[in-house]
Amino acid sequence: MMITPTPIHLLSTKSNNEIYIKRDDLLPFSFGGNKARKAVNFFSEILLKGYNVVVTYGSSSSNHCRVIANMAYKYNIPCYIITPQEDEKITLNIEFTKLFKAQVLKSPIDKVSTTIDNFMTELSKTHKPYFIQGGGHGNLGTQAYVDAYREIKDYEKKNNIYFDYIFHASGTGTTQAGLICGATLQGDLNRKIVGISIARKKEKGFAIIKKSVQDYLSSVGNNNKIAEIIFEDDYIYGGYGKYNENILSEIKNVLVYNGVPLNTTYTGKAFWGMMEYLKKNNIKNKKVLFINTGGSPLFFDDLKELK
Ligand SMILES: *Cc1c(COP(=O)(O)O)cnc(C)c1O
Repeated sequence: MMITPTPIHLLSTKSNNEIYIKRDDLLPFSFGGNKARKAVNFFSEILLKGYNVVVTYGSSSSNHCRVIANMAYKYNIPCYIITPQEDEKITLNIEFTKLFKAQVLKSPIDKVSTTIDNFMTELSKTHKPYFIQGGGHGNLGTQAYVDAYREIKDYEKKNNIYFDYIFHASGTGTTQAGLICGATLQGDLNRKIVGISIARKKEKGFAIIKKSVQDYLSSVGNNNKIAEIIFEDDYIYGGYGKYNENILSEIKNVLVYNGVPLNTTYTGKAFWGMMEYLKKNNIKNKKVLFINTGGSPLFFDDLKELK
């Protein structure tokens, strides 16, 4: 699968700013999203180097696991997913993952890394297994959003526009690291890239993004001054997957006025966080780009809540 630039368009909102959206939810594989953009890079390496089993980690609501399982099926590569035992939520993503015949292995949450190590060691005796970190973390995942950043720059040039802000949902921080690296490589130090945390507290989230940025930049031998990392943890609302009425009503507004799906776990929570952030910081008359990082199956899980 080839990645072609995803559409960017203006949204109709009640904000005092012009809000545009980049539709990574429309990437052409397995309901798209940032996990599809990252997966393409991982599978290029898997196919190029002849790996014959893929192993990854994720929860039952994971978009990452759906996309990896789907791509593994397409390329006829067996896929194993290690998942935390506590997590019993039935979601469309887990149903898709099973449909794609991925083997789901449960592990107690505090034993996940030993489970993965042991499983990889065992598999290596008979196969050439490839491990993808949860959420598609790592330099290949970062690369996906260095490329997306370039798409944004191209759009700006073509349409004679400048986005003062880029907002997006930040989870493992890989997407944000890619955007920060993209800005760093281009010397864009004024634009504000704001990751709205969907679960992690600031200290941990920030440190992981910083490390991913440093890992990537050193892998490409770049010594530019690093663009600012803004990681906002004010909008976590109770933690991963938790949401409130305000998030639901923001999702409903974006849907009915624009026909664009957002979800409570990632994009809807981040979109709501963005609107709150703009209000709280009294930001007006700016051009703002929100990246729809996908997760459309989660939108359908949420649909019955949008009354
Ligand atoms: C995983 C995910 C994110 C978070 O991306 P990271 O690169 O892990 O920070 C955001 N939105 C959606 C829809 C996701 O599936």
